[in-house]
Amino acid sequence: MSELDLIVRGGRVVAGGTVTIVDVGIANGAIAAVGPNLTATSARDVDATGMHVFPGGVDSHVHFNDPGRTEWETIATGSAALAAGGYTCFVDMPLNNLPVTTTAEAFDLKLEAAQRSSILDFGIWGGLVPDNLGHLEELAKRGVIGFKAFMCPSGIDEFPACDEAVLREGMKRIADLDSILLVHAEDPAALHPPAGTGWRDYVKSRPPEAEWMAIYEAIAIASETGCRLHIVHVSTRHGIELVDEARRQGIDVSAETCPHYLLYSSRDLDHLGGAGKCSPPFRSLEDRDGLWRQLADGVLPMIVSDHSPSTLELKQGPDFFKLWGGISGCQSTRQLLLWHARALSIGPATIAAATATNVARRFGLARKGEVAVGFDADLWLADLSVDGVVRREDLLYRNRFSAHEGMPIHGHTVMTIVRGQTAFKDGRVDRTSRGRLIKPQR
Ligand SMILES: [Zn+2]
Repeated sequence: MSELDLIVRGGRVVAGGTVTIVDVGIANGAIAAVGPNLTATSARDVDATGMHVFPGGVDSHVHFNDPGRTEWETIATGSAALAAGGYTCFVDMPLNNLPVTTTAEAFDLKLEAAQRSSILDFGIWGGLVPDNLGHLEELAKRGVIGFKAFMCPSGIDEFPACDEAVLREGMKRIADLDSILLVHAEDPAALHPPAGTGWRDYVKSRPPEAEWMAIYEAIAIASETGCRLHIVHVSTRHGIELVDEARRQGIDVSAETCPHYLLYSSRDLDHLGGAGKCSPPFRSLEDRDGLWRQLADGVLPMIVSDHSPSTLELKQGPDFFKLWGGISGCQSTRQLLLWHARALSIGPATIAAATATNVARRFGLARKGEVAVGFDADLWLADLSVDGVVRREDLLYRNRFSAHEGMPIHGHTVMTIVRGQTAFKDGRVDRTSRGRLIKPQR
């Protein structure tokens, strides 16, 4: 066997739905061999005995706000936080950076910012808004992973919602580009005006029916136009069911949920306050537990963070409706999920699939998300004998706070490797790690 750059020896490798003790050989940033007791020589060995070796996480839903709102988050801090949590690549949303990513010029600005400061590989989502139909093709040519649209107000004026006519025209064009549309599915017609200023009023103003109606409508237009569709941050069990039924009928649609819908119900807002505000809001205990069952049953394939941070100031105040809506949490996704999964007898392989493999496959990140020969050497070495809690002092976000503070976590990051290079090790970020733009392959 030829010489390798690195061999990760003796770890419990989470691959293909199982966990087996094998070595992982790496050459030129890619996985060159996976097998027991590799005999090849290597420039460097890492002893992973007793550790789990996961595929590097793929977080397709983050808002790093760079350029433009870098007081909320930056690509440097966001990518470092992800690396600390076992992630090796991310796809950044077209908002809340400024300018929003709805033109090729805005894409170029974000690309420049990411090339300068991301320690992880990255993809870029383009936006679909009412006035940029003429820009979709050039965004696709630049290499966006796909497009994102809102069916209700997004929370920022620069990124307006699409009505049915714009969605239909956008989906036609996105289908022609062989790309994918992501939608924030809440039907504005089913949202209620505030009846007060508390968290209960907020939850009541955004009922689950709004999600179901929007999913139904988006699926109908996808079916009509032949556009690939993905529903972001589904908050209810029935929402996932609607997507799964449509998929069984042959419509090319998928869905994700986020850790916060698996961890919390709306009554947790009583103690979380503004840190737990997001849209859609947290739901019932039945929904929370139902989503876990759907994960176990394979009906719910993807969990991504929807990391949407802001300054602490914007999360505090007497009127819940006026607070920034978004959860800061991408650093803790895998460790939070592993803690709760263990109690539900859901194994690490299911978490690896939901946080890496299935995400990469759905969005055409062809070299990402698996520990297998030919894939990028993106690995998370985790010590699952260690439990802990999310602590503010460990968070690497630009603004060090999170809804998850104090929550139990399972697993400790020993090392995060991106294309064979160390991005995070022993509690420290390697700032010399440099990410590359990922383009979709379908
Ligand atoms: Zn989001």
